[in-house]
Amino acid sequence: MIRKLLRRAITILRRAPTASATEPALIPLARHGIHREAISSGARRTCETLQKHGYKAFVVGGAVRDLIAGIVPKDYDIATNATPDQVHGLFRRSRLIGRRFQIVHVMQGGETLEVSTFRAAHDADTQKDEHGRVLRDNVWGSLADDAARRDFTINALYYDPGNESVLDYHHGVADIRQKTLRVIGEPRARYREDPVRMLRAVRLSAKLGLSIDPAARSPIREMAGLMENVPAPRVFDEMLKLLFSGHAVECLKRLRDEGLHHGLLPLLDVIMEQPMGERFVMLALASTDERVRQGKPTSPGFLFATLLWHEVLSDWEKRKQQGGIPIPALLEAMDAVLDQQSEKLAITRRIGGDIKDIWALQPRFEKRSGKMALRMKRGAKAQESAQEGAQSGDLFGAEPAE
Ligand code: ATP
Ligand code: MG
Repeated sequence: MIRKLLRRAITILRRAPTASATEPALIPLARHGIHREAISSGARRTCETLQKHGYKAFVVGGAVRDLIAGIVPKDYDIATNATPDQVHGLFRRSRLIGRRFQIVHVMQGGETLEVSTFRAAHDADTQKDEHGRVLRDNVWGSLADDAARRDFTINALYYDPGNESVLDYHHGVADIRQKTLRVIGEPRARYREDPVRMLRAVRLSAKLGLSIDPAARSPIREMAGLMENVPAPRVFDEMLKLLFSGHAVECLKRLRDEGLHHGLLPLLDVIMEQPMGERFVMLALASTDERVRQGKPTSPGFLFATLLWHEVLSDWEKRKQQGGIPIPALLEAMDAVLDQQSEKLAITRRIGGDIKDIWALQPRFEKRSGKMALRMKRGAKAQESAQEGAQSGDLFGAEPAE
């Protein structure tokens, strides 16, 4: 009995992800199953070139995780001990990106690979804001350091296409198999450093069908407020990843379960308070999920136009009741909603323009019969393809029947 308890305690201690693991497990091909041919040719070539010049280079992060989980990766990240300047010097078609978090984009054929230099874990000298959010992250480190600063155990896997092995610092392969999302290090401290990790925990758990380890899950509700200090463009970027993950409906359900939706996506706060609005949002997201899964093109402009349409309608209604002339009142309502939301959500100017174009078509859809309606439908279709496809230009038609 005691021996059994001891064995269990040792297993738990071994399993606990610490930020200081320096000895990685070397996982052979037979256990992870990723043949080098499964990696994109661009990622392979990038690693080869770096290695040929004496640098370490691995495919890291989402791609390794997804391949082990049996999902086709959407893009590839490479980690190396070459500095951004050294990487840039080796690839003619490459550019340095970002100031505070410098990385290199390497173009290979039609692919863009994100190459980042191993970074050090944070210490007392790391620059942080008053809430503990890390502001700078450009101190280079060892491979072990780089693994420790990543968010989840399943994201700290390093695949070497040269020898087809995976370096696993934090039992990530076992966690993928056990369908558990675990934070590396102490979850509260890691969320404080970067609150976006809470959002990522929800998105990745939904995408991969994982359950969030209780230690990582329980602080989310109480720490959700920290999201407010994250710059809006950063939240918008992660929100776009979430909405176009192909699992937006599931993500949203999980966000609500974890108490993360309030303030996170103000437009959803507004819409979800109206029962009709919620069904409308869910339909729009389900249709986006379906398109993403079928590999069809999607458009952020169209999705945001849909999500915000109820707000435009109610603002428009108010203006009409106050004696506004329908079309000018609609244009004013559109501007008002977009101004307010763009600021809160950091919607880019380009997406804002697309949203307005789609809204501007809506009154014409009210005429649903005759030649005029047909002409409008065709016009909308042409516009959609110009925007790389959207579900349908008709937001009235997307409203669920009562
Ligand atoms: P996907 O690309 O499928 O959306 P991903 O995990 O690859 O998921 P990216 O944003 O591409 O997400 O990040 C690449 C890798 O960088 C992650 O796998 C993780 O190792 C690391 N990473 C990303 N964001 C963070 C973060 N906020 N904190 C720590 N590590 C991060
Ligand atoms: Mg990625």
